[in-house]
Amino acid sequence: MDRFAGKSVVITGGNKGIGYSIAERFVSEGANVVIASVEDQVMEAATKLGPNTRSFVCDVTDKEQVAALYEFAKSEFGGTDVSVQNAGIITIAKVEDLTEQDWDATMEVNTKGVFLCCQEAIRHMRASGNGGRLINTASGQARDGFIYTPHYAASKFGVMGLTQSLAKEVALEAITVNAICPGIIRTDMWDYNDRIWGKMLGNFGPGELMENWVQNNIPMKRAGEGSDVAGLVAFLASKDATYITGQTINVDGGLIMS
Ligand code: NDP
Repeated sequence: MDRFAGKSVVITGGNKGIGYSIAERFVSEGANVVIASVEDQVMEAATKLGPNTRSFVCDVTDKEQVAALYEFAKSEFGGTDVSVQNAGIITIAKVEDLTEQDWDATMEVNTKGVFLCCQEAIRHMRASGNGGRLINTASGQARDGFIYTPHYAASKFGVMGLTQSLAKEVALEAITVNAICPGIIRTDMWDYNDRIWGKMLGNFGPGELMENWVQNNIPMKRAGEGSDVAGLVAFLASKDATYITGQTINVDGGLIMS
């Protein structure tokens, strides 16, 4: 399928995990893709993805760097048709141990970072007059906050709110704005969650807590893969999703059914 032939797609946090799987999916369907992340390894990831991919080092919390990212997409591929706000961080701590720094850093990346990218992407989409698609990565925690992560849950609830507000503002300009809620997906974040929650919630060995969680809470009894999330993102970016906006959609094997 070449659903995205000639389309320009920007993906933050595209060097690994869910973001990389999303990039693979768009490349396989003919898109030109810019992946962005804070570390230099983003260049290696782009090389692996092939000639239709470029890399850009960008901290999504920095307005000037975000502006430069979308200028780069314009100079390389003529603009931005699809922007996937996927970069995110998590820390886990009991309430009395959660620092103000943890709170601020999480809000900065997960919520402000999403907003700054949407703001810049919309500026470019409006200027082109061709419409566009914005897809924001929230989390199952935007539906149901898990224990020891109030800052992360709040940051992801924020993503859902800004998605709805922006969707209303740009609805008449053929720009759709949607959010996705991945459940439990195997990435570096899975490893971190397994290690820290595993210690805090009981004496779980490596891999045990997350597998236990999956078996007891996910009706499909398997963790998600990046490709499961990429399928939803590609659908929301496709022509089939033209009439869908302001929505938050779970991709979690049935973990949360609301
Ligand atoms: P990873 O930890 O594997 O990847 C996170 C990505 O975000 C990396 O590419 C990282 O870049 C990038 N990033 C972090 N901070 C910044 C920043 N300031 N500026 C630019 N990029 C940044 O996580 P996942 O792939 O698991 O998660 C992707 C998204 O999905 C996140 O928003 C996460 O909250 C969400 N999610 C994940 C779930 C899961 O189970 N894995 C479940 C629900 C939601 P670098 O490598 O350069 O640091």
